This record gives sequence, C-alpha cells and structure tokens, in this order.
Amino acid sequence: MLDCAIIGGGPAGLTAGLYATRGGLKNVVLFESGMPGGQITQSSEIENYPGFFEHTKTGMDFMDTWQEQCFHFGLKHEMKRVERVAKTGKHFTVTLENGEKIEAMAVIVCTGSTPKRAGFKGEDEYFGRGVSTCATCDGFFYKNKPVTVLGGGDTALEEAFYLSNICSDVYVVHRRDTFRAAPSTVDRVKRKENIHLITDTVIEEVLGDAMGVSGVKLKDKEGKITQLDTPGLFVFVGHNVNNSVLKDENGTFICEMNEWGQVVVDLSMRTSVEGLFAAGDMRIEAPKQVVIAAGDGATAALQVISYIQEQA
Ligand code: FAD
Ligand code: NAP
Repeated sequence: MLDCAIIGGGPAGLTAGLYATRGGLKNVVLFESGMPGGQITQSSEIENYPGFFEHTKTGMDFMDTWQEQCFHFGLKHEMKRVERVAKTGKHFTVTLENGEKIEAMAVIVCTGSTPKRAGFKGEDEYFGRGVSTCATCDGFFYKNKPVTVLGGGDTALEEAFYLSNICSDVYVVHRRDTFRAAPSTVDRVKRKENIHLITDTVIEEVLGDAMGVSGVKLKDKEGKITQLDTPGLFVFVGHNVNNSVLKDENGTFICEMNEWGQVVVDLSMRTSVEGLFAAGDMRIEAPKQVVIAAGDGATAALQVISYIQEQA
C-alpha cells in the first residue's frame, strides 16, 4: 500500500513528491508516462520563475534540477501511464495502462491540460519560435511589437487584452463575425485602441525563417489573402484537460468537475472525494503557470500528510 500515489510528473507532481517525501511519507510513487518535467520542457525559454533568470537555458534545462532535487528525498518514479483512479472503501486503486493495480491511501492527480492546436500550416514548425499558447509566459518577448491572436473565445479576448498592455498592436483573428466570449469582454476589447478585430478570417499559414515567425497569411471568407507582419502569434482555440484518469469505467467522473472538465478543488487542493487531491493546470481557475502548479503541488502534499496522520 502506497502512502501517496502522484499522477503526472510536471511541476505540480514533482513538487508534490518533494514535499510529501521530505515531509516524512515513506512510500510515495510518481506515475509519469514519459520523462518527468511536464509541458514546460517544450519551452525554449522561461523568465518568470522567481530565482531562475538564465536566458541561455531552456525549459528542459530548467526542469533537470527539479528531478534531481525531488528524487533526492525518496520519491520513486514509475514510467507508466495511469488508466484510472477509483476509491474502494477507505483506499484508492490506481489502475495502470498495463492493467496492474496499485493501492494507495491518498492520491494527488497532476495530469495537466493541453492547449489545442488550430491546424494551420507552420503551426507545429514554429511552436515555441514565435507561435505560443501562453501570453503570460511569452507576451513580454514582444514588448512594443505587434502580435496576432487567434480565437474568439473568452481566453483569446482576455489574453488579447493582457497583450495590449505590453505589445504595440494586437490583431485578433476570428473565423466568424460573432464572438463566443462574454459580451462584456468583447466590449472591453473593442474599446481598447490598439486591439484590432479581424473577423470572418482564418490563418492560412504562419510565415518565418530560421530566426522564427515573421508574419501570418490570412484568408477572409471571400478568399482574399492578406498578410500581417507580426513576429508573435498567440493561439487560443481551447484546451483539453487531461482528466481521463478521473473517469470510471462508465465514463463518469469520480469527483466534482466544472463544465469545462476542470477538477473542482478548494484552497487546499482537496477534491470532493476524501483523500483525492488535484493540483496544477487541471484544476479550476488555474493560471497555468509553473510557479502556481508548483505551489499547488506543495499545498496538496502538505494536506496529504495531515490526511494520513488523521487516518492512523
Ligand atoms: P504539466 O506540466 O502539463 O504536467 C502534466 C504531466 O502529467 C505530463 O508530464 C504528462 O505526461 C503527465 N500525464 C498526463 N496524463 C497522464 C497519465 N494518464 N498517466 C501518467 N502521467 C500522465 N509557465 C510559466 O510559468 N512560464 C513560462 O514561461 C511558460 N512557458 C510555457 C511554454 C510552453 C511552450 C508551454 C507548453 C507551457 C508553458 N508554461 C509556462 C506553462 C507551464 O508549462 C504549465 O503551467 C505547467 O507545466 C503546468 O504544470 P502541471 O504539473 O500542472 O502539468
Ligand atoms: P472556447 O470557448 O472553446 O473558444 C475557442 C475559440 O477558438 C472559439 O472562438 C473558436 O471559434 C475558435 N477556434 C476553435 N478551433 C479553431 C480553429 N481550428 N481555428 C480557428 N479558430 C478556432 O475556448 P476558451 O476561450 O479557451 O474557453 C474555454 C472555456 O473556458 C469557455 O467555456 C470559456 O467561457 C471559459 N473561460 C471563461 C473565462 C472567464 O469566465 N473569465 C475565461 C477564459 C475561459 P468558434 O467561436 O467559431 O467556435
């Protein structure tokens, strides 16, 4: 029986493991289908994590030291994908992809969420080299420069507003002529002088060279092609929350979720199921930042330690 099973080895899961083991739990396993590190390992640069300010280092370099530190205190890593989590009586059963079943007293789920790709030409090629899905992470790289934002939902318009305070101009490209975002958000964006709304238009291709993105090629509904010379392109076309481990065999979630598939937690990262915690990008109102995910993981682990003491 594990004291704690941690699912997902991004910043939330690794930090949860560090706090759980350093806090005295003996039998803690991190289940991570790949190498630990999470989505930040895809980033070419990180400059908003306090204490880390080395421009030459990538997200991969940044996470390297995390692994070393987190495993130092006894956290074990099983490179296995988790299929599902179930509560049976007082304990949890974690079912792995290969059918193996592991018992645990408490579980912290940290499986993150994945931004959707829009599917235009060059999107994958230039991802991390001018194409971004995170304004908080990358907006500053375009200070006083023009950027393009793709999408017409709340995220796209809220992030366009955030970018408009950093960038010279923000061109919001949306495929329809009405926005999915809340009317008050649309009004706020329309009032901002340096935000320009381009509707009934799609991105055909992102343009660039070895240095990164140089612009985007647009196509309107009449088929007219135009070009925006913006070095940054932010894509906000929705997220897939990696929540499948929380579904039972019938596809029903085992804990309370919101309408967007994010896990409902309290300020202690407790879900609606006793002993089950969720942390990082998959939880409600997650700002989707490494520093927050790490904080969530620490919070959840401290709660697990108290929970296990109460059970004894
Ligand atoms: P994740 O990092 O997504 O980790 C989840 C982990 O769970 C993954 O490793 C995944 O393999 C694993 N997993 C999923 N399902 C299963 C399963 N069923 N079984 C086992 N394992 C599973 N944030 C910043 O603060 N600053 C930045 O500059 C910044 N730049 C970014 C640049 C890019 C390109 C990207 C993609 C993100 C960036 N972010 C940045 C956001 C940041 O990476 C995330 O907020 C953070 O990684 C979330 O951590 P997490 O632990 O919640 O989830
Ligand atoms: P979303 O509501 O699903 O919006 C995605 C947007 O991207 C839509 O405008 C969609 O166009 C467009 N889109 C999707 N696929 C595309 C593609 N391949 N190419 C071009 N455009 C594409 O996603 P979201 O904005 O991330 O929001 C997710 C949920 O969180 C929503 O329910 C939202 O209300 C909520 N949210 C709330 C707040 C808030 O309350 N403050 C903030 C952020 C998010 P169409 O409109 O044509 O489908």
